[in-house]
Amino acid sequence: MIKNNSKFNVVIIGSGFSGLTAADMCAGHNLSILLMDENIHLGGQLLRKIPDNLGEPPDQKNDPIKKTGFSFIEKVKEKQITLMNKTVLLGVYEDNTLLCEYDRKKTLSIKYDVLLFATGARERFLPFKGWTLPGVYSTGMLQVLIKSSGLLPAQKTLMAGSGLFLYAAAYEYIKNKGKLLGIMELSPFFNKIKFLPQVIHQYPKFIEGAKYLSKIIRSRVPVKYRRQVIEARGENSLQEVVVGKVDQNGELISGSEKTYQTESLVVGFGFVPNIEAPQMAGCRLEYSQEKGGWTVVVNDWMETTVENILAAGEITGIGGAHKSLNEGKIAAYRILEKFRLEDTDRLAPVLKKLQKERQHHLSFVKCFNSLYKIKSRTILGIPDDTIICRCESIDMKSIKEAIQLGCNSPNGLKMSTRCAMGPCQGRTCAPVIYDLLQVLCQKDPKEIGLFSVRPPFKPVSIHALNHPYKSESPKGL
Ligand SMILES: Cc1cc2nc3c(=O)[nH]c(=O)nc-3n(C[C@H](O)[C@H](O)[C@H](O)COP(=O)(O)OP(=O)(O)OC[C@H]3O[C@@H](n4cnc5c(N)ncnc54)[C@H](O)[C@@H]3O)c2cc1C
Repeated sequence: MIKNNSKFNVVIIGSGFSGLTAADMCAGHNLSILLMDENIHLGGQLLRKIPDNLGEPPDQKNDPIKKTGFSFIEKVKEKQITLMNKTVLLGVYEDNTLLCEYDRKKTLSIKYDVLLFATGARERFLPFKGWTLPGVYSTGMLQVLIKSSGLLPAQKTLMAGSGLFLYAAAYEYIKNKGKLLGIMELSPFFNKIKFLPQVIHQYPKFIEGAKYLSKIIRSRVPVKYRRQVIEARGENSLQEVVVGKVDQNGELISGSEKTYQTESLVVGFGFVPNIEAPQMAGCRLEYSQEKGGWTVVVNDWMETTVENILAAGEITGIGGAHKSLNEGKIAAYRILEKFRLEDTDRLAPVLKKLQKERQHHLSFVKCFNSLYKIKSRTILGIPDDTIICRCESIDMKSIKEAIQLGCNSPNGLKMSTRCAMGPCQGRTCAPVIYDLLQVLCQKDPKEIGLFSVRPPFKPVSIHALNHPYKSESPKGL
């Protein structure tokens, strides 16, 4: 049973690899632990289980990391951990208090001694004309459709974007009997060659990449490099996609346009960390292109700059499941040590090994994120009539005009144009706007800064605001 204002020794926000690992390791030491996630399931972005009645079962057996992840879910369910799915963190306050919404129906406050942010990442976008048309999907959305509902967006699709996840999504689509018309990769083929030495030293990632590529090659899917979506067209939904070639500076080559007839387009440009909650908690953030943008600053123990708040996983740098798992373990050891449940001397060699592993993951992170940076010319080339903020329908022209008038900060742009003020609170457009400000104002991201965050930093229902939470058992939801 959990009551409003309940206090826990450890509260973990996010049940992806990092949160699950930390929860599992902290359990069994007489600590009260709450593991919270806004999703209806445990496992974060990667561990989505296809319902038994739909499609093929997830290939857990052939995928060691997923197998590990699903086994963590089973273990966590068995342990003395309070599990709260469908619970969104809306605000973080100074007196170790969190404001949450439960099941879109109720709000509750929770207190913690130690807090671990394991809030993961979300997708990065590069807007183009028509990206708001029905029929245009993100790679993450494609995965959710396949994994949670056993559905494909259409029997035929085109994919475009950059980064490794594009290939993971292509693999899932083909495996589920979709016909892929082609992959339009923004980055050059040479990137893959540059990447090879790094991947060879990351055996599991090498095997994973080889699995995706071999499926794509065997399915004879054409992969074109230095290609950018210029426009998605259609009356009420997608009918055709215009793709063009870009030069080595990322600028569109005129006359290179080609039109593809398709009912569906899937786009993905990698991920950005979910930093809003740590930002609100006052944790120091840093901009690092090599780590995937704005990330939470942590020390070797995954401690943030705020006492008793730790961070692990994608929010400290986009690097994939192995890195998240490793950081979840380090954070757990640090938490146990804080409660004097682990002996510092005994832990020293274990932590040394984990930290060495972490450095190995970070070297991959740096190489990977640098190679898939979107070039300034590509960002500058976004046409004026392209929607940038989908919620408020703010186009590129309005953003440029506001910047010319002197609104050269995220908050200035927000006040003058309403961008990032809609229901998504800038979750989609904020990273695009940071990139735009960087290239249009020619300023360092640190100088530009971030949108300010206030509670609730995620949408909350009026109903929930009217109904404070009363005791009930959320375990096993
Ligand atoms: C859409 C998407 C799809 C992905 N698919 C793959 C894939 O197929 N293969 C792969 O290798 N990697 C994939 N990744 C990358 C994947 O996130 C990492 O590999 C790894 O699993 C990250 O683990 P994590 O614990 O850091 O975060 P995540 O797994 O992202 O977990 C973070 C969790 O925090 C929760 N959360 C965030 N904010 C709040 C809040 N305010 N309140 C409550 N809960 C919150 C989220 O619901 C989420 O469950 C995907 C990432 C995304 C964004």
